[in-house]
Amino acid sequence: MTPRTGEDEVADLCRDLIRIDTSNYGDGSGPGERAAAEYVAEKLAEFGLEPEIIESARGRASTVARIQGEDPSRPALLIHGHTDVVPANADDWTHHPFAGEIADGCVWGRGAVDMKDMDAMTLAVVRDRLRTGRKPPRDIVLAFLADEEAGGVYGAHHLVDNHRGLFDGVTEAIGEVGGFSFTVNENLRLYLVETAEKGMHWMRLTVDGTAGHGSMTNKDNAITELCEAVARLGRHKFPVRVTKSVRHFLDELSDALGIELDPEDMETTLARLGGIAKLIGATLSNTAQPTMLGAGYKVNVIPGQATAHVDGRFLPGYEEEFLAEVDRVLGRGCAARTSTPTRPSRPASTGRWWRPCSWR
Ligand SMILES: [Zn+2]
Repeated sequence: MTPRTGEDEVADLCRDLIRIDTSNYGDGSGPGERAAAEYVAEKLAEFGLEPEIIESARGRASTVARIQGEDPSRPALLIHGHTDVVPANADDWTHHPFAGEIADGCVWGRGAVDMKDMDAMTLAVVRDRLRTGRKPPRDIVLAFLADEEAGGVYGAHHLVDNHRGLFDGVTEAIGEVGGFSFTVNENLRLYLVETAEKGMHWMRLTVDGTAGHGSMTNKDNAITELCEAVARLGRHKFPVRVTKSVRHFLDELSDALGIELDPEDMETTLARLGGIAKLIGATLSNTAQPTMLGAGYKVNVIPGQATAHVDGRFLPGYEEEFLAEVDRVLGRGCAARTSTPTRPSRPASTGRWWRPCSWR
């Protein structure tokens, strides 16, 4: 039998986690993360850690554990991941989203890239270090969090508000997204660092109309009005706004790629960026994407109201512009109410652990 490698362990842990359905619908209707939190705790306890499971609401659980470092005078490092996933409709998938199958050399399933993969890698590395008795130089706090996909209310926010002591001494944190690498050519691979984050307005649009029978003419049909407003917003192109962080990034990228990237001509710039164009494109403007529609209950009844949900994101510093533009595009008769406003993070241009140009 071939010996098991660390890679095998990562794949197994990842598959196990994928098979635990932790779909987060954002309205409390999902299964929650309790089973995943228990699984993670068990994997950590096996090698001597004493993980704590914190339940913020029924079934909404996070796991936190601390590994003692050699030198308690040094600040601690937080390594965090989330165990919830966005929902998946099995009919849309080639491999069942909650089966954790291996095909073509890959693990398939919801969460395989966001972010049960990193959860599994973190667990495997920690388990290996504990197994072989390697102590980190400083304390490491591990957090496997609930509810990241719906704003973190039942996960990160709950812990910070109610269990602050778990993070005593922590001065830095490593989480998802920062680990994406971008291969420029065989000699150059860039590891991007997230220095800012957009804010969110998840909006519910409502149009009130006149209810009536489907056989009659109706000039005030809520569905017709809503659909027009939603289509306008969905097709709307928000203006390009190059923030300081993005300008800095494009400068560095120009250097690394050895080509001129002109922030004023974003279309040409994006066309030259290949695989990361989509990611970079989203940092250049506010966005508002319609994601849900709801109205009516019977084919021959015109409903009095129609609703739609829109995922709105705004660049740091552009919230007012975003809201004004949304109002303008929607026009009168369509009311937008934000359900979960989230502030953008403050842009940082440098950090203690990294500095720009580190690709050199
Ligand atoms: Zn994620």
